[in-house]
Amino acid sequence: MENNLRKTVIIGSGPAGLTAAIYACRADLAPLLFTGSGFGGQLMLTSDVENFPGFPEPVLGPELMDRMMRQAERLGTEIVREDVVEVDFRNYPFRIKSLNKEVQTLSVIIATGATPRRLNLESEKRLMGRGVSNCAVCDAYFFKEKDVAVVGGGDTAMEEATYLSKFANKVTVIHRRDKLRASAALQKEAFRNKKISFIWNSVVDEIVGEKKVEGIIIRNLLTGEKSRLSVDGLFVAIGYEPNTSLFRGQVELDEKGYIVVRNETETSVPGVFAAGDVKDYRYRQAVTAAADGCKAALDVDRFLKTKEEYISQLQV
Ligand code: NAP
Repeated sequence: MENNLRKTVIIGSGPAGLTAAIYACRADLAPLLFTGSGFGGQLMLTSDVENFPGFPEPVLGPELMDRMMRQAERLGTEIVREDVVEVDFRNYPFRIKSLNKEVQTLSVIIATGATPRRLNLESEKRLMGRGVSNCAVCDAYFFKEKDVAVVGGGDTAMEEATYLSKFANKVTVIHRRDKLRASAALQKEAFRNKKISFIWNSVVDEIVGEKKVEGIIIRNLLTGEKSRLSVDGLFVAIGYEPNTSLFRGQVELDEKGYIVVRNETETSVPGVFAAGDVKDYRYRQAVTAAADGCKAALDVDRFLKTKEEYISQLQV
């Protein structure tokens, strides 16, 4: 086979991409994986991870990703620590270009994830993983009997608030308008919950605390009035941006920019598969992304079997 023609190329190095690499190695597909500059994805911004199976003690997010990476490398993944800058899925074999490398490939797994929207406050960045979180399922447990706030008025914010209410003493939702955009069912559940209260027409201007969250400064958008709310945690639930700009016009995206899949991992282009948060706004967990990566690698293996004749011609 030509030097730069690969059986499979994986784009992304979160749990989905690295698990896909591990399974692709085991299927003898000698994968090449572009990590992107944000190696490891969202877990790199997480401190203790307590819900990934196999770790009886908490494991730090970056350590978990480092372990997955070493496992993928040990099994034979070629790792390229660069961002992909261009793809061509219109011609076959597909073409993928990073800054210093260009490869052709018989299949692709897209696992570029999604980026949580931020409030863009300096204090948010500083206190991320120290009381500021994007994931109630991951972190609610740390806020037993504590007071927390959630920013946002969509489905995620309502789900986060409801989930947090199982642990926290009090959950305050802060929303910039006077109406939620969440589905009726999720709104109803949140309004019914005695632990959840709402502050309307307001935004968070500042998160107070040096080493951990101690409170937030809220600004009412109608009156301009500022107030302080004492909380131990702030959950930012203002949506996600799927990292799909590179694939616009190449594979089908939904109206929010997520990759549309059929049969779990198949994109609109045969031979191009997607795994993890780049196509999943529902579960968004490390373990579900990892499971998706596994499925995508198994589906690639099946796809390549349908190409055996084509591949043997290339090898002549
Ligand atoms: P979303 O629907 O885009 O909602 C984001 C919320 O954050 C909106 O209320 C928005 O306010 C607010 N917001 C955005 N930027 C903000 C900022 N800079 N400061 C303050 N507030 C800001 O995002 P999502 O809730 O993550 O949902 C994404 C998609 O996943 C949706 O299609 C949703 O239906 C789906 N989803 C479904 C489920 C489920 O079915 N169980 C669960 C989770 C998500 P405005 O309302 O003023 O725009």
